[in-house]
Amino acid sequence: MSCLFCRIVDREIPASIVYEDDRLLAFTDINPQAPTHVLVIPKKHVPSLNDLQPEDDRLVGELVRRAAAIAHERGISAGGYRTVFNTNLDAGQTVFHIHLHLLGGRSMQWPPG
Ligand code: AMP
Ligand code: ZN
Repeated sequence: MSCLFCRIVDREIPASIVYEDDRLLAFTDINPQAPTHVLVIPKKHVPSLNDLQPEDDRLVGELVRRAAAIAHERGISAGGYRTVFNTNLDAGQTVFHIHLHLLGGRSMQWPPG
């Protein structure tokens, strides 16, 4: 399997794992853009938001709620945080295994670059 994040799921590549269950994995981004920068992914390989199917609705719900739970654990829920899915070239997606960025611990600008 050549997908980077599938290889992290399979423990072929190390990562700093912050959460795991049978359907999800969360780990620290290797190039953090904020004091908290965690990626939450499904273990199932889905390339991008464009590829989600109706049967993935529960999985997406779990993904988003897990990001909120990690934000709560990190103490950044009240102050605020940002969650981002980058999709394809114009958004700068570089890893084509869907991942939700959880960024927090500093104030952020809007609009994003
Ligand atoms: P995106 O640009 O939205 O596709 O995000 C991909 C993210 O994966 C980037 O923020 C990278 O820093 C991060 N990343 C790439 N390789 C690794 C890795 N081996 N472990 C953790 N994060 C990674
Ligand atoms: Zn994958």
